[in-house]
Amino acid sequence: MSDPKTSEPSEVREIRINPVVPSESVLVATARSMRPKKAEELAPRDTRKHVETCPFCRGNEHKTPPVILRWPPDGDWQIRMVENLYPVLGDDREQAGFNFGLQQTIDGYGRHEVIIDHHEHGIAVHEMAESHLAALFGVYQTRMRQLFESDDRLKYVLVFKNFGPAAGASIPHTHSQVIAMPVVPENVDAEVKNSAAHYAKHHHCIFCALIDEALTFEATIYDRNSGAVRRKINVGQYVVERGEKFIAIKPFASRYEWEVHILPLAHQADFLDVRSEDLADLARVMKRTMARLDAVIGGAQYNFFLHSVPHDAQRSAHAPSYHWHLEICPRTSIPTGFELGSGLFVNTINPEQAAERLRTVEL
Ligand SMILES: [Zn+2]
Ligand SMILES: [Zn+2]
Ligand SMILES: [Zn+2]
Repeated sequence: MSDPKTSEPSEVREIRINPVVPSESVLVATARSMRPKKAEELAPRDTRKHVETCPFCRGNEHKTPPVILRWPPDGDWQIRMVENLYPVLGDDREQAGFNFGLQQTIDGYGRHEVIIDHHEHGIAVHEMAESHLAALFGVYQTRMRQLFESDDRLKYVLVFKNFGPAAGASIPHTHSQVIAMPVVPENVDAEVKNSAAHYAKHHHCIFCALIDEALTFEATIYDRNSGAVRRKINVGQYVVERGEKFIAIKPFASRYEWEVHILPLAHQADFLDVRSEDLADLARVMKRTMARLDAVIGGAQYNFFLHSVPHDAQRSAHAPSYHWHLEICPRTSIPTGFELGSGLFVNTINPEQAAERLRTVEL
């Protein structure tokens, strides 16, 4: 294995194409002199276990909308799910889709719910017990299943978490959110369609191929014009954490400096197909990945979200080609006008070096 410290140039400036969604590219620009972005502030860690005035803390259950789901079913709750007080989508179908010239809407029909991840107010994900995280993933599955079964107009259920104000969290108590919608989000749709096209051409899942590559091959980057070898990358170095059934990988074309994706090692399109006995391994990989991120970038604001095969008419057709995953996106820098205007993400840290730091940090 080559030593990244010696084989990597100290400064990288290149555009990397997302292998799954080629229209999403990333400018990796590590040169200090460029300083293309301003650092995002760390979210102050709120380590309090209980806050009297917090609607999500135990004892304040009357301050939230009625409970939808709780775990465990009896005794003190550890995880609790309620309707969102300020839903972005709801039952309201009065303003059904309208067209006005080129401007169109799709009605805002759907569900928006909140999962209180843990009864302890300020606990971080990497501080939660593995058994608790496994239960939390189980709650995600249960609710996704219930929502799909309750209403066949729902095509996608997005489970996500915001941590820190820059990542959109308005209540500091640890929580995730569930949004069920009648349309497939465009970025998921792009992943689904591109991976289906890859499958049609190569007869294998592109995500599985990327995992295989991460575990085995060495990639060579050639100069496009001269064909000369620019440099070799040991792609095994993208692995951040490995469990028995799941793997955490730093994407080659990471949009965010510390972005990490968690995927099942064996092909699986639907997060709902993860067997309950495998949730413990997922929890362990998640906990260790979040601990690595905390050790390297401590207290960074972040989002994570689940991408799973949509439950639309194409669901079974897409099952061989799509591969569910969890994307963790720490917000360590503020998006610039260049990024918003060009759609080109700028990553100021070489993903190979970021992966190495995450992999080698002491836990
Ligand atoms: Zn609280
Ligand atoms: Zn796959
Ligand atoms: Zn994705």
